[in-house]
Amino acid sequence: MKVHEYQAKALFAQFGIPVPKGRVAATPAAARAIAQELGGRAVVKAQVYAGGRGKAGGVKLVASPQEAEQVAERLLGKPLVTHQTGPQGVIVRQVLVEEASAIQKELYLGIAIDRASQRPVMMASEAGGMDIEEVAAKTPEKILRQPLDPVAGFQPYVWRRLAYGMNVPANLARPAGAIMESLYKLFLAKDCSLAEINPLVITADGRVLALDAKLNFDDNALYRQADIAELRDDSEEDPLEVEATKAGITYIKLDGTVGCMVNGAGLAMATMDMVLLSGARPANFLDVGGGASHQQVQQAFKIILKDPSVDRVLINVFGGILRCDIVATGIIEAAKELGGLRVPLVVRMQGTNRDEGKALLAASGLKITLADDLKTAAQAVVAAKK
Ligand code: GDP
Ligand code: MN
Repeated sequence: MKVHEYQAKALFAQFGIPVPKGRVAATPAAARAIAQELGGRAVVKAQVYAGGRGKAGGVKLVASPQEAEQVAERLLGKPLVTHQTGPQGVIVRQVLVEEASAIQKELYLGIAIDRASQRPVMMASEAGGMDIEEVAAKTPEKILRQPLDPVAGFQPYVWRRLAYGMNVPANLARPAGAIMESLYKLFLAKDCSLAEINPLVITADGRVLALDAKLNFDDNALYRQADIAELRDDSEEDPLEVEATKAGITYIKLDGTVGCMVNGAGLAMATMDMVLLSGARPANFLDVGGGASHQQVQQAFKIILKDPSVDRVLINVFGGILRCDIVATGIIEAAKELGGLRVPLVVRMQGTNRDEGKALLAASGLKITLADDLKTAAQAVVAAKK
């Protein structure tokens, strides 16, 4: 799960990481009022779940409240296209209006989970700012990496190595180190999967400040992070993914055309591989889960068919606790509700109550291709062009 910059900055402040003064606005008039409070000079920043705003015109320095209002007017309600949004962009619904900082140097600081070392790793670079992706691609040696030992905790050598490695002036190494330690505390306390400050700036008047803030959270930990879960902004997420989450279904939209419904994450991955190997691309990952009801199956099937890019569907079920006849009932109910099937459907069923499931589908009058093994099923769905 992602949050907006202003929400991440509120968490930063809670953990003692210095951030610029500012507030979020949903109208140009509110942006003007905040700029007025801040003394006129300010930065107006589009709040969207995507980076690269600076280069896309989504971050503007303004010299007066009037100008803040004009910039907010230009941004609010319109799509912002950055290199992370895709060509259609995302609609800006709020802007953050902050006091402007005089920047002397832009650094990068981040924490992510490193799968290889199986622990969080802190990354720091002297070459922070808007070109960090290019730095990572072309001169990765300019990014220092420090694995963090979960048992030893945040040891002073970590901040010393990183602060001095980034050439932070000696008198600012300690405050920079304090920010590192606080970011790590936040990362652990809030079950983050990513925490990033880019840029972390050294100001002209000798302070270290988080000018940008990006936090991602582990979805599987949200059950114990009620305050974070509350920050979820459904308008920024894929609407089908939101609907699936509410129904307790794991659904991830992909760029292909073969809708896939499977029980079990591993089987779903294998099914997507088989579709790809057979010559087509999956439109989604979908795991209805092991103990789904026929209503959940029905809902999952409807979600798949709501995706306009889906031109055929493959259902692959290995009946266990979720019996094949329950799946068949869910499919038939969904088709009834939708007034028939708008695309070819291939179903492969094995396991508990397979014969009952197949008999229900065969008797339903729906045009369904049945297959017994996954390879045949994948080939059939690839061959089943509209
Ligand atoms: P991003 O492009 O989406 O990552 O947005 P950022 O919040 O990182 O802002 C992009 C860039 O705008 C930063 O790298 C800074 O160079 C610039 N910027 C942001 N806030 C200020 C500010 O208060 N003063 C100045 N001078 N520049 C700023
Ligand atoms: Mn940034």
